[in-house]
Amino acid sequence: MRLDGKVAIVTGAASGIGKRIAEIYAQNGAAVAIADLNPDGANATAKELTDKGAKAIGVKMDVTSEQAVDDGVAAVVKQFGHVDILVSNAGIQIVNPIDKFSYADWKKLIAIHLDGAFLTTRACLKHMYARGKGGAIIYMGSVHSKEASKLKAPYVTAKHGLIGLAKVIAKEGAEHGVRANVICPGFVRTPLVEKQIPEQAAALGLSESDVIKKVMLKDTVDGKFTTVDDVAACALFFAGFETNALTGQSLVVSHGWFMQ
Ligand code: NAD
Repeated sequence: MRLDGKVAIVTGAASGIGKRIAEIYAQNGAAVAIADLNPDGANATAKELTDKGAKAIGVKMDVTSEQAVDDGVAAVVKQFGHVDILVSNAGIQIVNPIDKFSYADWKKLIAIHLDGAFLTTRACLKHMYARGKGGAIIYMGSVHSKEASKLKAPYVTAKHGLIGLAKVIAKEGAEHGVRANVICPGFVRTPLVEKQIPEQAAALGLSESDVIKKVMLKDTVDGKFTTVDDVAACALFFAGFETNALTGQSLVVSHGWFMQ
């Protein structure tokens, strides 16, 4: 699945899963915009890619800001001419039991995951529809798009919501050749997860190694973390699949933690 001539915007691509997706897309011929709240990280990732001969730019973007998203997508289209692929990946995690969850934290998490998905989708669809050459919208869901865990009320709510959004985009986008799908990874050892290990240990009264073995990987088939490469391979597949045959779907990549 090559992406030659395609332009991709990956949000949250200064780190973790998004960064690896940007690298794999660039290796497969796409021009890539690294859109992230962290401009230094975005520019550093873009430089790593351009140093290897790829086309890439860093874009400072807070996905919860309508203006920043519209301006950022417009800047990518100005630079590369069009946009074919959006990976709405930027995300955070905040763990707390629901009776202790602050409303501010709830709103912050929901805004990054759901407002961010809406705003980036709307901004990219406008260009995709106008150009008439279709496109791929990919949401970074989670096993928590299908399954719940303690302490993660807004995250589980938002990740379930992305599946609904993808199904609507699949129906509305079909006549324009725009497909929408969701990737649902299990635990991947990125900074987002490294931060959760001590937090969950404190909240659940477990050691950090027990959080990994008895909470995070307990239901996998082999006790292994999913990797950024596993998730990037799925993102390449969804981006490169050219017809409406594959749309409105969610793909779980989790070492069997969740089986459909
Ligand atoms: P990460 O912390 O390594 O990277 C997240 C990136 O998002 C960072 O570069 C951060 O600066 C950026 N970001 C945060 N808020 C932003 C905002 N408002 N606007 C733009 N960028 C913003 O995390 P990760 O583990 O790579 O997570 C990426 C996505 O994958 C998230 O949506 C997460 O929910 C999802 N996910 C992660 C795992 C996992 O185990 N790591 C599992 C399933 C799903």
